[in-house]
Amino acid sequence: MFDKIMIANRGEIAVRVIRACKELGIKTVAVYSKPDINSLHVQMADEAVCIGEASARLSYLNIPNIISAAKNQRVDAVHPGYGFLAENAYFADLCETYNIKFIGPKAEVIQLMGDKIKARELVKQAGVPLVPGSEGNVNSYEQALEVAREMGYPLMIKAAAGGGGKGMRLAQNETDLKDALDMARMEAKAAFGNDEIYMEKYIEEPRHIEFQILGDEHGNLIHLGERDCSLQRRNQKLLEEAPSSFMNEELRKKMGQVAVKAARAAKYYSAGTIEFLVDKHKNFYFIEMNTRIQVEHPVTEMITGIDIVKEQIKIAAGEKLTIKQEDVKINGWAIECRINAENPDNDFSPSPGQIGRYIIPGGPGVRIDSAACENYTILPYYDSMIGKLIVWGRNRQEAICRMKRALQEFTIENVATTIPFHLKVIDNAFFQKGEIYTNFIQRRMSDNNNR
Ligand code: ADP
Repeated sequence: MFDKIMIANRGEIAVRVIRACKELGIKTVAVYSKPDINSLHVQMADEAVCIGEASARLSYLNIPNIISAAKNQRVDAVHPGYGFLAENAYFADLCETYNIKFIGPKAEVIQLMGDKIKARELVKQAGVPLVPGSEGNVNSYEQALEVAREMGYPLMIKAAAGGGGKGMRLAQNETDLKDALDMARMEAKAAFGNDEIYMEKYIEEPRHIEFQILGDEHGNLIHLGERDCSLQRRNQKLLEEAPSSFMNEELRKKMGQVAVKAARAAKYYSAGTIEFLVDKHKNFYFIEMNTRIQVEHPVTEMITGIDIVKEQIKIAAGEKLTIKQEDVKINGWAIECRINAENPDNDFSPSPGQIGRYIIPGGPGVRIDSAACENYTILPYYDSMIGKLIVWGRNRQEAICRMKRALQEFTIENVATTIPFHLKVIDNAFFQKGEIYTNFIQRRMSDNNNR
């Protein structure tokens, strides 16, 4: 097992990884940008190194500074968390060059699955169903027209290097196509330095259902069931639950097997996620693989009792997976709300600043993953998440009641948060019936959005 791990991240995920390390008896090194000096992850780690100025480009994305900090502190491994360098194949490769274990899959696999066009090709060959779409890259407007005529509208134009909903555009008809194409290409170029795009049929009112994968370096690969991440705003997740109210045992088995097959095709190890869209008729289609720990991993931990971050670390240390597929049992229901410093009454505009009073909910079945505290300042340089509120109940109804109670207890003063919005979602009759899909917020909560 490793003696010392560096966490190349900040905020709640850095804290989450430090907790896992402590339970495994591993020493930790935090990295921080100048304004993060008093952060919780810095206080909790055994050692801490300043890696640069506020701007992420100069600190949390500053590869030379992070690598030299890792060498100076003599760490055995680096955990990248999510975001920042978590899916940066160059960084993963450089860690290995410097004899530091990257806690994640191989650099080649990050590269491969990070290119959605290549990932689609790979899993298609393994027999995984894809959203019908273009074969590979769409180079020109003429080619796009041809694909669109064959496939029909509406359709999605997506960036090969896409992530965080960037470089994605909907075209309802032929008139939209040219603009959507140009916009997607421009946005992709600006965000990822890569303007390759592809096209997919638009799936009407789908569910976003993803499978958590765990694999070791010895070829063992299992899934930990599904998460339903259909509650989204502008294609970005807001609330996640596990299991999915849309699932039955037969579909879970089938989708789980397909997810494992997709991961196997990539020779995947570590924790990863296979994402699917599922239509009204329960047809499911692969959309992408995320080669890192995900924000919403706690809902899976709550219903399986498996600590995914600890497993990820053990796998990186070369250990064999001790959990077999048949050992994975789903117990009860978990829901996660992402509590962001955003103003839902003003189009979710960021609301950074210093928190005043901060009182977290507690009691049975409540978990908070956060790096915030009283007087903590939400910095404008990074994402606006204050923390994640996760609840567990014996069934969906109990989880919903518990989430409502916990959201009401959660007091965060002086900054606007998404708590009032989550309360409205939880109170929505369609949500309570489990009738959710990716455009639920647009369709069922539009008057809340406009207020
Ligand atoms: P990103 O990596 O940018 O998050 P994804 O491919 O994971 O992009 O898609 C994010 C979300 O966008 C999905 O969960 C879904 O809500 C929506 N989406 C993506 N592709 C389609 C599609 N073909 N049809 C309908 N919705 C889609």
